[in-house]
Amino acid sequence: VFAHVVRAPEDPILGVTVAYNKDPSPAKLNLGVGAYRTEEGKPLVLNVVRKAEQLLVNDRSRVKEYLPIVGLADFNKLSAKLILGADSPPIQENRITTVQCLSGTGSLRVGGEFLAKHYHERTIYIPQPTWGNHTKIFTLAGLSVKSYRYYDPATRGLNFQGLLEDLRSAPAGAIVLLHACAHNPTGVDPTLEQWEQIRQLVRSRGLLPFFDSAYQGFASGSLDADAASVRRFAADGGECLIAQSYAKNMGLYGERVGALSIVCKTADVASKVESQLKLVIRPMYSNPPIHGASIVATILKDRDLFDEWTIELKAMADRIISMRHQLFESLRAKGTPGDWSHIIKQIGMFTFTGLNSEQVAFMTKEYHIYMTSDGRISMAGLSSRTVPHLTEAIHAAVTR
Ligand code: PMP
Repeated sequence: VFAHVVRAPEDPILGVTVAYNKDPSPAKLNLGVGAYRTEEGKPLVLNVVRKAEQLLVNDRSRVKEYLPIVGLADFNKLSAKLILGADSPPIQENRITTVQCLSGTGSLRVGGEFLAKHYHERTIYIPQPTWGNHTKIFTLAGLSVKSYRYYDPATRGLNFQGLLEDLRSAPAGAIVLLHACAHNPTGVDPTLEQWEQIRQLVRSRGLLPFFDSAYQGFASGSLDADAASVRRFAADGGECLIAQSYAKNMGLYGERVGALSIVCKTADVASKVESQLKLVIRPMYSNPPIHGASIVATILKDRDLFDEWTIELKAMADRIISMRHQLFESLRAKGTPGDWSHIIKQIGMFTFTGLNSEQVAFMTKEYHIYMTSDGRISMAGLSSRTVPHLTEAIHAAVTR
């Protein structure tokens, strides 16, 4: 009965790793994957995470019962505080609901499903380009996906005028997906002044902001600085949604820990919204897993562990920033044609190199360097040892 099933293509992002794994070359380099690597090219489990896990294991009173549908209560409270700041009006006024979801992806999906059921406008505007999964998540949630201009290939920076024009002409009430910081894949973020103009436009047009926060603390090294955009919107009295992921900033990728928050106008509305979120979650996966959320809650509620986390987080962010400088300097030293200053201007895990799909294919074939075909490279996958190889490959690709 399944003979008619046609083979689906590999996921454009995860498929890069599949191809990388098949390559026998010792020189191969995977810059496709969005996961942190140490200078030695190894995955990293934070010390503070190991400590928290030890505490959890040693606590014999802990059991493996089901969590509530909305997840671990401490985790939810602490996650809202982390993204908005403890003194944020929605938290003070108890008009926010936060539910634990399956990392950033699950939080976006639950938020999308809720909006498709309970919000009057079904259109969501996503930046062009954006993380490849956004379109699929929101389409399958039942929303209609449109895009707004975001990236300008000519400047390798923000197309701010295009962004404003497109949001201005969006229908009143439309949902707008905004990357809280470290826009993926471009590494291009609005300045604080630009965020303020976006906020004013969003509020004056009655648009509904939906923040995707997958990199808090991971972009600049500061948890507060990376949350500045979201905090501005949350503090102005209007509604917004926020999807948080602990994949990158705590290195909890496979634990699937995240949260969806919905900021409402009143505490009563927030509690009704939460009751409906439960109806979205229950038939989807019943309730979320306990282990990863317990790790996060343990770290967030203990002063010493929290401080230790911020130090480890900053070290990851700093290593990525240092890779940007090393790659930039290396291309300059080699005299590779072109202006590569965007490598040090962009922020977060990725550099949008500007290399086209033929150049990418050439680098993969001749240099065994793997990345998505849009020319996005993960700076976290690079090390001082591999910068020269990447420089050679980029130089050869652009001078071919
Ligand atoms: N949003 C963005 C912009 C991302 O880059 C990612 C991770 N690549 C996610 C959401 C979701 O990741 P996860 O589900 O692993 O938290």
